[in-house]
Amino acid sequence: MCQNCVLFYDFTEDDLRNMGPVDAQVYLEEMSWNEDDHSFSLSCRCGGKYSVSKDEIEEVTLISCDTCSLIIELLHYS
Ligand SMILES: [Zn+2]
Repeated sequence: MCQNCVLFYDFTEDDLRNMGPVDAQVYLEEMSWNEDDHSFSLSCRCGGKYSVSKDEIEEVTLISCDTCSLIIELLHYS
């Protein structure tokens, strides 16, 4: 797990309510691939970054910003 991000697994609806609103729903294609650390990232409106590693991308659905409390939901094609 990378040091700059917190990843959330297996959240229930109650957990989501406690965490606050999801800021955006994005598809993987909308995120930027970083060759350096083999991760996908997306800029947050606060100037921070959502980041998730290639290894975790399959299991992660919620990604938190590294500098604020906003969360995005990663959508997977079914
Ligand atoms: Zn942010």
